[in-house]
Amino acid sequence: MATINDNYLKLKAGYLFPEIARRVNAFAEAHPEAKIIRLGIGDVTEPLPAACRAAMVEAVTEMGDRATFKGYGPEQGYNWLREKIAQHDFQGRGCDITADEIFISDGSKCDTGNILDIFGDDNAIAVTDPVYPVYVDTNVMAGNTGVANDKGEFGGLVYLPITADNNFTASLPSQKVDLIYLCFPNNPTGAVATKAHLTAWVEYAQANGAIIFFDAAYEAFITDAEIPHSIYEIPGAKNCAIEFRSFSKTAGFTGTRCAFTVVPKTLTAKAADGSDVELWKLWNRRQSTKFNGVSYIIQRAAEAVYSAEGQEQVKALISFYMENAKIIREQLTAAGIAVYGGINAPYVWAKTPNSLSSWDFFDQLLHKCNVVGTPGSGFGAAGEGYFRISAFNSRENVEAAMKRITEKFTA
Ligand SMILES: *Cc1c(COP(=O)(O)O)cnc(C)c1O
Repeated sequence: MATINDNYLKLKAGYLFPEIARRVNAFAEAHPEAKIIRLGIGDVTEPLPAACRAAMVEAVTEMGDRATFKGYGPEQGYNWLREKIAQHDFQGRGCDITADEIFISDGSKCDTGNILDIFGDDNAIAVTDPVYPVYVDTNVMAGNTGVANDKGEFGGLVYLPITADNNFTASLPSQKVDLIYLCFPNNPTGAVATKAHLTAWVEYAQANGAIIFFDAAYEAFITDAEIPHSIYEIPGAKNCAIEFRSFSKTAGFTGTRCAFTVVPKTLTAKAADGSDVELWKLWNRRQSTKFNGVSYIIQRAAEAVYSAEGQEQVKALISFYMENAKIIREQLTAAGIAVYGGINAPYVWAKTPNSLSSWDFFDQLLHKCNVVGTPGSGFGAAGEGYFRISAFNSRENVEAAMKRITEKFTA
């Protein structure tokens, strides 16, 4: 008799987004005239930069000619793309990362999940609370956790609260952990980590032989010159950190799919016999076996991000979303709502007014303003009393939604 991976049964049924959809659909059915504006999504809305589209068209033409046709590419990605990334994103910022330490993939969601393939099942694992749910669920699937309690917390994971009290940057754990997930700029809180904060984490990891998984999917949204874009800007990080980057939010690639993971060759972890093993070798083996590379056409589109026009277009795209974030911050503040984030990240993390629960505020916004956001409690217990508003939308929708909120919530 075939059996299943029982760990899947421990997963909480995808609660957050289905529940949002259920409430929005029920409201829309009862009020068919309501013009609902969705500011809950973590997906981009604006079209792909022209430089990327032109590169794709050219690549398609190459694929139509026997002389330039491409079959399987390198599993790790084409070297011309890896070189551009190494130079622009790392060496240009003083980080000593080389092209062969960069692995091109079709997404950071997959990479942050797949990375567990190369780690043992006896690691103590820390996540922040609130958290990007992928980090938790992939550990559940891999059998690295116990079952969930009634707050949705899984046994065996160390939850590090990020709240207004610690400026939305997790305090170092009091116990010893082996794997640490950090995401800065943060989804969902929009918070950033200073050099001093990341230095404390790198020092903790080095002292404890831990590995940091650093998700920098939103680094392009950083506007403050003092905030590090890469964990490798911190001395010693090459000995204790893997970094995940994606073109999804940076260049509007959520539907196009291209990302990369940096595994420095200096990074090691322990084998069962106590010897040190290079993680680069294991990840290279894992990718070569289970992955067959990203489409040539898409890698050419990603390469175009680094051209002069590409850079200009991507900067304009990000400025557009960050102007939305500024409008959201200003208007919510005017409505008497305390806001965090939204300065170096496309998410504004609002404190629910009048001590409302996250879901009660969700219902009020939906019913009074016909605006949809994301309840903070859906990202973890410490997100209760907060609410995420995404800057990924048209200017028209953002302005209309904020107008409705200031009209309904001004104290
Ligand atoms: C959107 C996002 C990503 C990117 O995922 P892709 O699979 O590359 O689209 C990664 N991490 C976080 C926290 C995100 O919000």
